[in-house]
Amino acid sequence: MARELEHDRAEIAVAGLKKRVNRSVFKSLFFSMLLFGFFVGTQFPLFAQQALHTNEALSPVFYAMCVGAGLMVGLFNFLLFKVLVSRALSRLLVGMRKINASVEQALHTDKQFELACQLEVDSNDLLGEVATTFNSMSEAVAERITRESLVRTLMADLSSTVDPKRVAQNILEAVLKVAGGQGGILFSLQGEELELLTSSGLDKGVRLPVVLDELSDGAVHAIKRGEVAELAPDERGLEMIRVHTQEGQVRPNFFVVVPLVTGSRTVGLIVLPGLSSSLVPARLQLIDVFRTHVAPYLHNALLHRKIGEMAALDWLTRILNRRFGMRRLREEFSRSLRHGLALSVILLDIDHFKRINDTYGHAAGDAVLKEVANQLKKNIRSGEAVCRYGGEEFMILAPGNDLHDGSILCERIRKLIEKTVVRWAGQELQVTVSLGVATWPVIPASVVNEIVSAADEALYFAKEAGRNRVAIHQGDDVRLYVDPAVTVN
Ligand code: GH3
Ligand code: MG
Ligand code: MG
Repeated sequence: MARELEHDRAEIAVAGLKKRVNRSVFKSLFFSMLLFGFFVGTQFPLFAQQALHTNEALSPVFYAMCVGAGLMVGLFNFLLFKVLVSRALSRLLVGMRKINASVEQALHTDKQFELACQLEVDSNDLLGEVATTFNSMSEAVAERITRESLVRTLMADLSSTVDPKRVAQNILEAVLKVAGGQGGILFSLQGEELELLTSSGLDKGVRLPVVLDELSDGAVHAIKRGEVAELAPDERGLEMIRVHTQEGQVRPNFFVVVPLVTGSRTVGLIVLPGLSSSLVPARLQLIDVFRTHVAPYLHNALLHRKIGEMAALDWLTRILNRRFGMRRLREEFSRSLRHGLALSVILLDIDHFKRINDTYGHAAGDAVLKEVANQLKKNIRSGEAVCRYGGEEFMILAPGNDLHDGSILCERIRKLIEKTVVRWAGQELQVTVSLGVATWPVIPASVVNEIVSAADEALYFAKEAGRNRVAIHQGDDVRLYVDPAVTVN
């Protein structure tokens, strides 16, 4: 509303100025020319005395004729001037109107601003200078509006997502548009950890730093202080980066590192490899301003992800909690149903865990839980998942594993935990685990709980059979897993 009022007021002021210019300049010119003509007319008879008789030269008739002629010359001069100047001014006015319409359109609609008019400079006088100044002014306006619309689009894109990778892509894309670089990388910085969120225009096979320490001290210093810095092409940790160009992979001539800072914290880092003329210094200044606007969006997205992870993870073991484990199980189950892929569910329980707590204390029990979770996390394949199902119970999801694969996985884990030693307060603690496995479609379940119940039944069987064992649910009955490597006499 305030903007509209301001806009209206500006329009009224411009219109007033136009009227005043029209009225006063041409009116003054008109009267000045007439006055000049009149003056010449009154003076002419005095000079005419030299050629004519004084009586004739100073006669009222001759006087009136001279004044009349003077006025006509004045009027003619005025008209000539008006025509010539008006033509040049009209050209300026048409140009200004076009650019004004374009500005209006860019301000009030989402249409891209187009530099609608560049005046031809065909004279090197004052009017030529006005045209040149007008042209450079319209270029500045065009640049400003393009930049503003880029920022506006970017802000809209950034507000529409909280996914750190998409936020990073939007930021990098806009930075490259502004800086005119060939490519770049955007890392998030959490503590000392660098996480590659996105990259563009670069060779993907290159190993990039994952902690800040992999960069040189100078770079780390600048990043921590939040200063934009230029680094050498052989900068430690970045030396392998290559830029795609028409000539192939090219080694950059320098790097520009742009820390993204919110408050006093650097939350991200943009690395822009530069070829000799690709990064324009003036544009880098713009990036400096730009980065302060985008950094909070990255910070928010990272926080959002962290909160999501915190909600999904168990506070002690840092693996999925039961709620998210069950959610994952439902997802895997519906995928298995769709693609007809086997799905094994394993329930694992630490044997006589209460004894650990009773003998060494609760903190020792916690250390054991953490180590068991750690071992499970480390020893499952990608695509598989592990969650803390209860106090000292864990659930493993193994999509694509049939009953045979599932039992082998159980036995591998059983052996792994059996030989794991947990060092705690100078003591060496060891535990064993019992495991029960159930597999879809051997268990013809229609809901996930039916598979989990079957796995639980198998686990109970393993406990009853003496613990530190694997039991398999075969649909109709449960049996213990027998390691084929162990020969029974
Ligand atoms: P079993 O071989 O039959 O499974 O015997 P168990 O002693 O492992 O089973 P039980 O259910 O009797 O005891 C489980 C214990 O796990 C009891 C509980 O205090 C302990 N526990 C559950 N959650 C935690 C935890 O977060 N930290 C610690 N230290 N102990 C826990
Ligand atoms: Mg137990
Ligand atoms: Mg238990």
